[in-house]
Amino acid sequence: MDSSPCPLDKELSDQIAALLAPPSPQSIQEYYDKLIEATKCHGLRIKYTNKHGKGVYTNSEFKEGELILKDQMLVAAQHSSNKVDCHVCSYCFRFIGSIELQIGRKLYLQGLGLSTKKECDYETFSHSSNGMCQNEMEEVGHFVMNESDDMGSSSSKNLKADPLPEDLLLSLINDELSLPYTKQFTLPPVIACPGGCEEEHYCSKLCADSDWESFHSLLCTGQNTEQSRRASLFKFIEHANSTNDIFILAAKVISYIILKYRKLKSSHPIKNGKQPSLDKTDEFSFSLLREAWKPISMGFKKRWWDCIALPNDVDSCDEASFRMQIRDLAFTSLKLLKEAIFDDECAPLFSLEIYGHIIGMFELNNLDLVVASPVEDYFIYIDDLPCKEKHHAKTVAWPFLDALGDEYAVCCQGTAFFPLQSCMNHSCCPNAKAFKRDEDRDGYAVIIALRPISIGEEITISYIDEDLPYDERQVQLADYGFRCRCPRCLREQS
Ligand SMILES: [Zn+2]
Ligand SMILES: [Zn+2]
Ligand SMILES: [Zn+2]
Repeated sequence: MDSSPCPLDKELSDQIAALLAPPSPQSIQEYYDKLIEATKCHGLRIKYTNKHGKGVYTNSEFKEGELILKDQMLVAAQHSSNKVDCHVCSYCFRFIGSIELQIGRKLYLQGLGLSTKKECDYETFSHSSNGMCQNEMEEVGHFVMNESDDMGSSSSKNLKADPLPEDLLLSLINDELSLPYTKQFTLPPVIACPGGCEEEHYCSKLCADSDWESFHSLLCTGQNTEQSRRASLFKFIEHANSTNDIFILAAKVISYIILKYRKLKSSHPIKNGKQPSLDKTDEFSFSLLREAWKPISMGFKKRWWDCIALPNDVDSCDEASFRMQIRDLAFTSLKLLKEAIFDDECAPLFSLEIYGHIIGMFELNNLDLVVASPVEDYFIYIDDLPCKEKHHAKTVAWPFLDALGDEYAVCCQGTAFFPLQSCMNHSCCPNAKAFKRDEDRDGYAVIIALRPISIGEEITISYIDEDLPYDERQVQLADYGFRCRCPRCLREQS
């Protein structure tokens, strides 16, 4: 591949190399010990060995079905295409508003031609770019309409009923029309973005403030943002939405580091009196930048264009040019982001080398963010009512179900980086899995024991569909950059 088109890659090569250097075993251990302390997951510890890298081990026993970990996302974003379907908090990804708002908003936006796709089905998950599909789809999408004769919906199969009148939908959105039994499914109220943009909404002031402080204050396109930055941000977002929304996630990472850097700097003011020499100031600033970057330094990463799996429709002889195109795409996105939020003191973050590695980290480590829809639960509830109540409720609610069609239960989908879960190693006979229980209504990753786990055992999950035969598993795992030597693979390899 020819040399980088980004001048910063060369100019700042020393700083970039320092940021990308793998952290020392000691600093890895310290970082995770602190993280475990802060998240109070005392049943777990992260162990780092030079031979096996990071792994998650138990400090206590777990019973089958027991919760092992709820892992908060370090950074996460809902897929752009999913925003029509699900109105969720931009920080914790809880559904917000009301069942009426969820239904009315979705039908209204669909009516405007903002198309929707991706039913929450197995297909979507098994084809996600990173191949991680641990979410148990029977659970998330356990109610498939055409499996139920009882629903009596005329919209079964793939046909959707005629659109409902717009004013009916608006009255749902504006809280003038209530559907029966939705009181059983109250959702948190919709809190607006403090910067005044229409893009982000929250379930609470706490989420709004946390998002603002950690990510959004640099990325908000609201009226309070300076005009030229707003215009640049719009361009960046538009490009991401029309190419790959992973760029939005990368922008969130960069703004997280810049904001953290500024916080660190203001809490470590340069001592009064003696101004250190310029070199020393630079050194000091860079030490703060490294500190701010630390959570990201822990994630395994490679350049995006080097590690992205070659799509099936790209011939292997075109591989080099495909990878070059991916790099150029990332560079275009980076230039747009730089226009919007460049900070001289954090300049290395705007090098293509760092941008590529941040995106590559998501490619290699991330897990899908999934939150089940309360709209699904609502219709199931109505369908399970005793005959008399059900008849009345259905008369009112079913036209909406018909209008929603097969996509009535689309869940919130996105991409997230989970700091502890990403330390879990793969096994084709795992002792744990990612699994959302009924009460898990936000974006956190939830890990449950699949069988009894004793003290000191390593927690393993499967990155792929572990029911696949040996050869296919190895092919899929090659995308993660390793050959599996779990007990089952060792047994089956011959
Ligand atoms: Zn929230
Ligand atoms: Zn905003
Ligand atoms: Zn294996």
